[in-house]
Amino acid sequence: MSTPGAGGARVEVLGLSAAFGRTRVLEDVRLAVEPGGWTAVIGPNGSGKSTLLRSVLGFHPHEGMVRVDGVPTTGMPRRERARQLAYAPQRPVVPEGVSTADYVALGRTPHRSLLAAPRPGDHRVVAEVMGRLELTGLADRLVTTLSGGEQQRAVLARALAQQPRVLLLDEPTAALDLGHAQQVLDLVDRLRRQDGLTVLSTLHDLSLAGQYADRLALLSAGRVVAEGRPADVLTADALASHYGARAEVVAGPHGPAVLPLRAPDGDRG
Ligand code: ADP
Ligand code: MG
Repeated sequence: MSTPGAGGARVEVLGLSAAFGRTRVLEDVRLAVEPGGWTAVIGPNGSGKSTLLRSVLGFHPHEGMVRVDGVPTTGMPRRERARQLAYAPQRPVVPEGVSTADYVALGRTPHRSLLAAPRPGDHRVVAEVMGRLELTGLADRLVTTLSGGEQQRAVLARALAQQPRVLLLDEPTAALDLGHAQQVLDLVDRLRRQDGLTVLSTLHDLSLAGQYADRLALLSAGRVVAEGRPADVLTADALASHYGARAEVVAGPHGPAVLPLRAPDGDRG
């Protein structure tokens, strides 16, 4: 972006455990994402991916520690945390009666003093982010009237307008068709290459995860069971044992892709 943020930060997750009531859903999770790195958390439904991101943000109670450039996030003032970390949730709740442009502009709040009017720089960042996500033509539409995919892009735009050092994306492509999914992931990839933004995302599409992330962390029943380069984590064995899936892993030019295989003839009823 022509108005870069402060560059990426190193994120460390140390011994993070979390629960819903008495049900433990994350167990001693350890992860480190280097500045400008992209780690995608993969894993079957219910393995704890969303809870992990929400815990890193401090939105879900947890044990263990999260550090951003060595500084623990517990006790970090909210505004300071919002200048470091931006989040695009899996199921965003968008406010009623707010235009798309005003919604994206909410991302500038952590950069302004309380009640101060937006400055020209704020408008510039918002306009630029909206242009890059093809939202300019939707600026005056109420954000509640956008389609699922448009809303997902608006939520991402709001997070980018925050000019964070770390972007936390929960299933950023879930509501998007393939072309829009690639557009969003290409943009995130450019931001981390040009501005050094650090990205921690979940991605349930394993082929997209294998192509875009430089590290994968495979979560299974709340534990990291494999972490490393995509080609080392995405294996047919791992897909069989943790997803119960039959699949072939194919080497692509930018990383592994997954080809699901239907059951052999004898196994179909
Ligand atoms: P994922 O994002 O990998 O699909 P989640 O982090 O959403 O997994 O969920 C992890 C586990 O926590 C699942 O078993 C899920 O059912 C449970 N869970 C998620 N949200 C709640 C909630 N609000 N109350 C109780 N259990 C929950
Ligand atoms: Mg989830």
